[in-house]
Amino acid sequence: MIASTLGATLLAARKQLIHSLALEINVAALEAHVLFGHVLSKPRAYLLAYPEVALTDSALTQFTALLARRLKGEPIAYLIGQREFYELVFSVTPDVLIPRPETELLVELALERIPRHRPVRILDLGTGSGAIAITLAKHRPQAQVIALDVSMRALAVAKANAAKLKTPNVSFMASDWFGALPSTSCFDVIVSNPPYVAENDPHLLGKDIQFEPALALRAGPDGMDAIRHIVPLSFKLLAEGGYLLFEHGYDQQEACAALLAAWGYAEVACHRDLGGKARVSLGKKTRDGEKYCTIGN
Ligand code: GLN
Repeated sequence: MIASTLGATLLAARKQLIHSLALEINVAALEAHVLFGHVLSKPRAYLLAYPEVALTDSALTQFTALLARRLKGEPIAYLIGQREFYELVFSVTPDVLIPRPETELLVELALERIPRHRPVRILDLGTGSGAIAITLAKHRPQAQVIALDVSMRALAVAKANAAKLKTPNVSFMASDWFGALPSTSCFDVIVSNPPYVAENDPHLLGKDIQFEPALALRAGPDGMDAIRHIVPLSFKLLAEGGYLLFEHGYDQQEACAALLAAWGYAEVACHRDLGGKARVSLGKKTRDGEKYCTIGN
């Protein structure tokens, strides 16, 4: 039975998290705090400072219910309905991938290529929660960002995030990749965190990831299906001097570089995330691009 002071309840929860999810002790402590902080609408400092506080029945019931879901593997971000990304707080539901810290690298690399004081045109393919599109729009208020997703449910989440974070310079469109875009569209920067996990990747068997939308993760036998689609079509829609930047798996660097070079991109490069893993590839469309394109149209 769960004891009814804050401190004792947190301790019991921590033990259960370690036991059921094999979490490290400090991660388990943090998770217990995040869940309880959410229930009580209090910061972590409060939970640490007042272990002797007696809990109301309602707080205890809510916490117990959330903890039970967490013990079955449901990710914390879905339980509390939010996740921080690039210093902004995004609402998330199981209809969207939970924004990951490694994707902040993609944003950083894109921002380096987006001038502050010009009305740059940006496209985000498969926007999900809108984390990338909205963060870029926030940091570049002069930019016009179009964010596409095939999932109407994901778009609803992304639109709510754009409203909450006050980025009127992002517009959203339901589109299966480029499908709904006018063929005359033209962009200075195209970004994407597409699905890139291979069908038989054991990573997909992980507890947390099974709660996330397969559509946002799985991309064919080698995980490259979406990337193979995005690379050539982006080339057609980029303005001269424009960039394509996208996230991919740690073992897809060479395949991505080959694809970018074959389709005529210049300055092809791959950047590593903070964990040292190859994570974001990019290429630039230059005037001569078409000449070097080694794949027939
Ligand atoms: N980085 C994610 C993961 O491995 C995958 C994200 C994606 O496919 N876009 O869990």
